[in-house]
Amino acid sequence: MTTRAPVPRITPGWLVARLERVRDGVRPTTLAQVERKRDPFRLLVACVISLRTKDAVTAQASARLFAVARTPAGIAALPEARIAKLIFPAGFYNTKARQIREIARRIADEHSVTVPANREALLAFPGVGRKTANLVLGLGFGIPAICVDTHVHRISNRLGLVATRTPEQTEYALEKVLPQHYWIDINDLLVTFGQQICHPTSPRCSSCPLADRCPRVGVLRSR
Ligand code: SF4
Repeated sequence: MTTRAPVPRITPGWLVARLERVRDGVRPTTLAQVERKRDPFRLLVACVISLRTKDAVTAQASARLFAVARTPAGIAALPEARIAKLIFPAGFYNTKARQIREIARRIADEHSVTVPANREALLAFPGVGRKTANLVLGLGFGIPAICVDTHVHRISNRLGLVATRTPEQTEYALEKVLPQHYWIDINDLLVTFGQQICHPTSPRCSSCPLADRCPRVGVLRSR
């Protein structure tokens, strides 16, 4: 009787090295590009626009809005309908226009024109949940926080890194699995990987660089 060699464990260092190879070959995500401007306010606004919206649409909508106004006071001074028109066709563009204007107004009036660098204050803004707050903390301020979106939640479970039902549970579970120096970058790595290879409905397992160690938890159909 032959015994199969055990599958090596997925370690954080191995995982990140493989994900970096995937990211090296593709265009940066919109939020990663906005982050290079080192402006937490623009990052926050782009993040609100990005919710339930394709990356390419977020890129164009953010660029149109920031071409007209890019400061809290500037955006707060725009009529809501103008913001909505600029960010169309982002999902829920009317609601987001109202939220973006209110966030801009509050930052201008109540936070000395500076995005607050703490989670509770960010969560108090309309349209801002843990995902957005953590992204702004991490990419905007360099404060370790794991931004768990649909890609991070799905792929972390498929890889067996976590066994969770909600993004919030995934955030807490990943904090126990990943060393803190990976917390900020893991979102961009997994978003890129999710867009390129580990798709929601039919992941490309046959050409996946993680396939030799991935238990493919919950994957029913793949290419
Ligand atoms: S092997 Fe398949 S399920 Fe696992 S990470 Fe790769 S694409 Fe995703």
